[in-house]
Amino acid sequence: EEVVNRIAAGEIIQRPANALKELIENSLDAKSTNIIVTVKAGGLKYLQIQDNGTGIRKDNLDIVCERFTTSKLQQYEDLREISTYGFRGEALASISHIAHLTILTKTAAEKCAFKASYENGKLKGAPKPCAGNNGTQITVEDLFYNVIARKKALRSPSEEYSHIMEVVGSYAIHNHNIGFTLKKFGEAADVKTPVKSSVIENVRIIYGNAIARELMEITLEEEKLKLKISGYVTNVNYSHKKGTMLLFINHRLVDSLSIRKAVDSIYSTYLPKNAHSFVYLSIELDPRNIDVNVHPTKHEVHFLYEEQIIDKIKECIEAKLLSCNS
Ligand code: ADP
Ligand code: MG
Repeated sequence: EEVVNRIAAGEIIQRPANALKELIENSLDAKSTNIIVTVKAGGLKYLQIQDNGTGIRKDNLDIVCERFTTSKLQQYEDLREISTYGFRGEALASISHIAHLTILTKTAAEKCAFKASYENGKLKGAPKPCAGNNGTQITVEDLFYNVIARKKALRSPSEEYSHIMEVVGSYAIHNHNIGFTLKKFGEAADVKTPVKSSVIENVRIIYGNAIARELMEITLEEEKLKLKISGYVTNVNYSHKKGTMLLFINHRLVDSLSIRKAVDSIYSTYLPKNAHSFVYLSIELDPRNIDVNVHPTKHEVHFLYEEQIIDKIKECIEAKLLSCNS
């Protein structure tokens, strides 16, 4: 059974950046306003996230790493909504099967913090009282130490670090009222966004001014589809060999080949050949229209009314590009 759990966990968490994404979402769910990520060796050796959220009560420390244990059921209207928003209650459990996991946490109601270590979904010994601020610090060490196949498939620490940077950068841009810091252990921060910032300011911090100064805001609402599109896209003055698309659907970082293609096809009429744009899109749609048959931890999403929704996305980007080009 241990082996089965480990294999399953290795399917869900394929690289340090996947684990980090889940941990960031937990910190966001816990209403944190400041999130600090520290890594060693691209997160393979050490990946730590410190937040200032609600913390975890001592009583709950023995169950947080059990599969399908979640404190979030009451927040969602129905089960379907949960399954579209992620595999609830599986992240910490999965990580504990393929890494050494330590949680240091304190709620406002408790006098001191508690530290607990986990292995294969279970607590290793009783949580120890210790000093600590309100919030949660989760440390993941030696990720994939027991998953030889996964370890071999991974690229260099520097490539893993660039994926981590992408995840932190994307969440920082999407959640611009939350401060994000990313640093390598013992070094100065590579990314640090202020607690109250803006999309454009955070794009400037993370991607540079060449992109930030060319951004245009887009918004669109469509009653029938219960669709809301908002975001920032570069105008026709900006082009780059490599395109960047940050896509959030219902506040989850995802990828969609069809949206990517649609965006590229619009810009292809305005930009030189093989040149690309920078696009940040936040799409909100009825969670019931997201296809749950695709495993939600897989990056790629599919949704109902895909064609109509993509038409709407095209429509609002196109209108913006036309207006700036006339
Ligand atoms: P889920 O997020 O789907 O509930 P996880 O495995 O990601 O499942 O987390 C399990 C539980 O651990 C959460 O429901 C939550 O109660 C608690 N938890 C995890 N991370 C944090 C955090 N950073 N702050 C507060 N509670 C947390
Ligand atoms: Mg979670």
